[in-house]
Amino acid sequence: MTQLKYKRILLKLSGEALSGDKGYGIDPTVLDAYSLEIKQVVEMGVQVAIVIGGGNIFRGIQGERSGMDRVQGDYMGMLATVINAMAIQSSLEQHGLYTRVMSAIKMEQVCEPYVRRRAVRHLEKGRIVIFGAGTGNPYFTTDTTASLRAIEVEADVVLKGTKVDGVYTADPFKDKTATRFTTISFQDVYEKKLNVMDLTAFTLCKENNLPIIVFDMNKSGNLIRLVEGDDIGTLITG
Ligand code: UDP
Repeated sequence: MTQLKYKRILLKLSGEALSGDKGYGIDPTVLDAYSLEIKQVVEMGVQVAIVIGGGNIFRGIQGERSGMDRVQGDYMGMLATVINAMAIQSSLEQHGLYTRVMSAIKMEQVCEPYVRRRAVRHLEKGRIVIFGAGTGNPYFTTDTTASLRAIEVEADVVLKGTKVDGVYTADPFKDKTATRFTTISFQDVYEKKLNVMDLTAFTLCKENNLPIIVFDMNKSGNLIRLVEGDDIGTLITG
């Protein structure tokens, strides 16, 4: 049996990634690919919690730009994350996995309300827990939700799946000389002003000694390699 480096993970997926090349909405092929990756680690005995963004549908800031009240827009963004959570839930279930969506905003006809002890119980039973509706509060992000929920359920690590394979010295799409860090301290990320997560999310991890790994979720096999402790992506620790 393979040795697992991480037994309980919090996987953060951006909403934008779900839209694939379309830039909006949900691409079923992306959902399917992610579900297969997640299934592999669940079958290895890893407990999986997921936080998914809503950027493929709505962002609060977007509403504000068009004259909408920011708080109203943020609630719309939070509802968008529930749509994504339900989409990934369906896809995971099609692959025979057991899941629960837990929402920070009560909508009991659709999913369970978030209750920390129940979330932990689901994880212990091998169910994938998908946290919807962000933190339930405007002015926050789903990155902050990921850090907060990871700390609450005592996950071993936050795995931030992105379209780049780690944290670079500069934007690798703009600067060809940019190099990737294999590991970096929280302090260095601050000092070098590297863009890993928003500061609220980042500070939560730093203060609670919760490691973050930024990795390329679109490369098949990466999730398994990470839980086995392979040196991929960028590991941020204390
Ligand atoms: N949001 C919020 N509070 C939260 C989490 C999310 O108000 O705790 C809103 C916010 O408007 C945000 C939107 O939901 O823009 C979608 O989340 P996010 O932008 O983090 O999604 P991602 O960029 O990961 O797709």
